[in-house]
Amino acid sequence: MRWSFSSYRQFSFCKRQWYYHHKMANANATKDPERKEAAILRQLQSLNAWRGSMVDYIIGQEVIPYLRQGIWPQYKQVVEAMKQLFQEQYAFAKDQKYREPGITKSKAGDQFLALYDLEYAPEKITRDSLNQAYLEAIQALKNLFANQHFLEYLRSADQLITQRQDIQIKYNDHFTITAIPDLVVFLDHPFRVHIVDWKVHSKANRTYEEQLFLYAWVLKKCTRPRDFPAALEQLPITEIKLTEYQLLKNEVRDYTITLEDIANIENNIAQSVEEMMLAQAHLKYTQLDINRFPVNRSETNCAGCRFRKICEQPIQQHSQTSLF
Ligand code: SF4
Repeated sequence: MRWSFSSYRQFSFCKRQWYYHHKMANANATKDPERKEAAILRQLQSLNAWRGSMVDYIIGQEVIPYLRQGIWPQYKQVVEAMKQLFQEQYAFAKDQKYREPGITKSKAGDQFLALYDLEYAPEKITRDSLNQAYLEAIQALKNLFANQHFLEYLRSADQLITQRQDIQIKYNDHFTITAIPDLVVFLDHPFRVHIVDWKVHSKANRTYEEQLFLYAWVLKKCTRPRDFPAALEQLPITEIKLTEYQLLKNEVRDYTITLEDIANIENNIAQSVEEMMLAQAHLKYTQLDINRFPVNRSETNCAGCRFRKICEQPIQQHSQTSLF
């Protein structure tokens, strides 16, 4: 069972939502409409989240690979790639292709998109709201390109690692803790490590140091992937540089992790894992009782919840009635 920063937050604010997301959702459960529906709903993204994920994707695909080779990425080319991605993904979501039988995220590839508002409030998807999402995504990239100093710094790095899935720790027999930072930068002479997470938020009132602390902690404790420098093992965690890059506000928020932060992370993980074990969250879906994962209804929790459809009105299972 994977434990991540986002699943921890989800479990804390609504256990039922966590259950739908991590246990019930199963795209291969063809004979169980409720599980299939949960798998579809799990993919829904708000307009703002979509805007952010497009920016992350374009940076990972169109900016970092060039910097890695010591080449300056071309802004015009990057914007063109964003425009194409935007159009393809929106067309996919608008036609609700994610509901077509046999379509999965991996089969659909880059064009896959399922939009929350198209399922729950299609009237909110207007020309203006789409235009705004597009322009803000472009603005985020524009701000990054305006920070030549930061791009030059990345270009001078020895290794740039994007969204790796193998930074993880086996915590106990049931839980694996995972971290998927947007970017890990390794620099030499002297050896340094820098974790960067891109954020595309209009208000950006909240800060994300906790998430970055967890990334640093997992990076230091995990079995080092073979292509990561061996020097990582000797580097004290307190020397890892952490950055939340608020691209829309063009604000670079730097953090450092202290020994007290590490103690807090370890306490939070221990408490959270214990709470999940008590709810038997590590068991298989078929072994679970949904009532162990109570709803936590509130305006804030439910307003943007992807699983409202099944939470408010569970799909009736039509059991076969015998004629004899
Ligand atoms: S609709 Fe509300 S109570 Fe139900 S799963 Fe979502 S957040 Fe939880």
